[in-house]
Amino acid sequence: MSELILQNYINGKWVSSTSGKFREVPDPATAEILAQVPVSTVAELDEAVQAAHKAFQDWRRTPVTKRIQYMFALKHLLEANLEDLARSITMEHGKVLEESRGEMRRAIENVEVACGTPTLMMGDLVEDIAPGIDELMIRQPLGVAGIISPFNFPAMIAFWFVPYAVATGNTVVVKPSSRVPITMVKLFKLMEEAGFPAGVVNMVHGGADMVNGILDHPLIKSVAFVGSTEVAKHVYSRGTANGKRVSAAGGAKNPVLILPDADPDTTTAIMMDSAFGCSGQRCLAASTAIMIGEADKVFIPRFAEAASNRVTGYGLNSEVQMGPVITPQDKVRIEGLIQQGVQEGAEMLVDGRNAVIPGYEKGNFIKPTILVDTPVNGIIATTEVFGPVLGIMHCKTVEDAIKILNDGEYGNMGSIFTRDGAAARKFRNEADAGNIGINIGVAAPMAFFPFSGWKNSFFGDLHGQGKHAIEFFTQTKVVIERWPKDWSRKF
Ligand code: NAD
Repeated sequence: MSELILQNYINGKWVSSTSGKFREVPDPATAEILAQVPVSTVAELDEAVQAAHKAFQDWRRTPVTKRIQYMFALKHLLEANLEDLARSITMEHGKVLEESRGEMRRAIENVEVACGTPTLMMGDLVEDIAPGIDELMIRQPLGVAGIISPFNFPAMIAFWFVPYAVATGNTVVVKPSSRVPITMVKLFKLMEEAGFPAGVVNMVHGGADMVNGILDHPLIKSVAFVGSTEVAKHVYSRGTANGKRVSAAGGAKNPVLILPDADPDTTTAIMMDSAFGCSGQRCLAASTAIMIGEADKVFIPRFAEAASNRVTGYGLNSEVQMGPVITPQDKVRIEGLIQQGVQEGAEMLVDGRNAVIPGYEKGNFIKPTILVDTPVNGIIATTEVFGPVLGIMHCKTVEDAIKILNDGEYGNMGSIFTRDGAAARKFRNEADAGNIGINIGVAAPMAFFPFSGWKNSFFGDLHGQGKHAIEFFTQTKVVIERWPKDWSRKF
């Protein structure tokens, strides 16, 4: 049992939860217990919210030019500690070190973009809307923001929101995923070092009760959530019913069209990274490849070879290309879905089940798995597997493939691989997904663009990152003003 007992960060202090309840945080590759995370009480959440609410009164009055100085300080601290943070992500999540470094880079980019908040939160003004009358629109922060993150990006996803919320003058309470809470504790230590005033950034560990506490707390004005569709729907409906502004991103199933003219080697390399990177535990993982026309003849053998050669193991070992899945329960769930896919008639091309990695026998490993001819309405084509499993289908035309994508319940990402500009343009225009890749495997928007899920991948109006996040965390105030003139007045 690990000695490391994680604490909450409330009002600028590290405090131990008094709940007496803990969950273990195991390393998914070794099963070693890395830490104990508390299941905090709703009273502890209330303490954090009260502290954030109190801090908001001064923080919103702190000039934005000063607020962003904390962001600059944080950016430098994140850079200086990147390697330690990346190792922490790999240990608690399992993804390989290079992927963890990439995650940190994406988190830092959001801090950099939030440094532009003085420009990003500018309002508008129109002079003389009527004789002697001006009208202006200003953006003001909402108050306390609740931010709830999933397990698959222990650092990055909270940073789609935290920098923007804070830079625009809100204060925050973050609830990390209790499956991967260690990196967020490290990030809060750096925020403490960056010198944010007490109460501006707070963190409370917990599970579903904590999320419901956030959704019900009257002093929390906005909730940003990322996780599975089922929970996202719940968060959106309960949060909005309580009068809060909510942005709730959900699960995904991302079809990728592959045309016969796509470059064989680069497409294969990109597709393997997309389907099996982070062990397929990415909301932008290419989970279905739709081969158009004769493309299957070129790509299926290449995919089979590349997937079979992918090195699976402990993410801190430099030769490893893919780590474990998050829990033993997820390994069982994913292997069950693969089995169901086979029973439904899919052909097993590469079978990664029952993987044993020498030296890491207790890890939750599944090697890359590819199923061919997955039925359109079958389990592999319609369910978010969230593991290293790629389903392959076949269509005669791009139209047929776009229809499959558009009939799906999710809309997080769609991609196309081709040299045909007209096909790519048609896809960009007609695919019902909010993040589109053209010869791109993981169409993850940069920090200055919104992370634009659609359909059952998103509930709300404004997404995380960039200008959307600035708008999400501010409300517009419109002022119409007239100043009676009395030029003869003496001063
Ligand atoms: P999850 O929904 O299980 O958990 C997300 C958060 O909700 C966690 O903090 C968790 O503690 C909390 N939670 C879990 N069950 C709850 C419940 N019943 N009531 C209230 N709160 C609850 O998601 P996860 O397994 O941590 O993450 C994986 C999911 O997140 C996948 O579906 C993935 O596609 C999705 N995801 C989506 C995006 C996106 O941008 N659309 C990005 C990353 C991950």
